[in-house]
Amino acid sequence: MSIELFENTNHKGASLFTTNVDRKNLSDTKVGNNPSSIKMTKDKDAILLFKKKNWKGEVFYLRGKNQIADLGNGDKKGKNGFGNSVSSVRVTPFTVKVNITIVTGDNGALPGNWSSRNNATADINTIIKMTNDFFDDEKALLKVKLSDLTFRADEKRFRMSEKEWKSIPASWKNAHEIDIVFPNTIEGAVGLGKFPWSGKFCLVSAKRSSVDGMARTFVHELGHYWGLSHTSKPANIMTQSKTGKHITKSRLKDAQIEEIQQKLARNIARKGDRIE
Ligand SMILES: [Zn+2]
Repeated sequence: MSIELFENTNHKGASLFTTNVDRKNLSDTKVGNNPSSIKMTKDKDAILLFKKKNWKGEVFYLRGKNQIADLGNGDKKGKNGFGNSVSSVRVTPFTVKVNITIVTGDNGALPGNWSSRNNATADINTIIKMTNDFFDDEKALLKVKLSDLTFRADEKRFRMSEKEWKSIPASWKNAHEIDIVFPNTIEGAVGLGKFPWSGKFCLVSAKRSSVDGMARTFVHELGHYWGLSHTSKPANIMTQSKTGKHITKSRLKDAQIEEIQQKLARNIARKGDRIE
């Protein structure tokens, strides 16, 4: 037990342990609708506080050791508007499903350095694992699950020009999942993530020197999909990289995790992306 919510400010009143336990609706707990302060005692602790029940509405994300005497006070490490109004909490990851297309040439040529379909499938599974290890290390409370992996022949999209960036065929999309396409090359880019308001898919060029580089691009484009912009901080996953930095050397800031979770809580990215 390492995360404790309190009914009143300054860690007073009734308390509730939430470690390893998600609460969809706090109103049936002794803390009721009034968790006003929090204690987190372990480095690996992470929690999402929501203003509405069922993990919806405004989000306040915290990770690591924290002692916040007043959750609603921005000057005291709290977040303005959160005092007495947390209605649900989440300490286990949300899952998002991804639907992956690997584009082949019309003659069946595989993109990148892939030598066989089995080889490509193994690398995609490694990329998914690296992504989940990354989210785990960052305590982002996110998990990616591969729902479909399909090889599709499309000579035009195998070497994707700017014209093909705009859209992918409707048959390549799955409802309530994030559609990710691996072509051989993308004109002028190693990846592309459509912001939620301008599109609903991600592209990752398979022509990278390493699986690590593709994994980093994969998470970077997911970041765009969830609305994150570029940053100039060298170690951040949202820094532009043409050299394929290693994913394990990349980081996410608290504010970026909060932003992603905020998008999913509001279903702005795409209705149904988040699986509860
Ligand atoms: Zn980018």
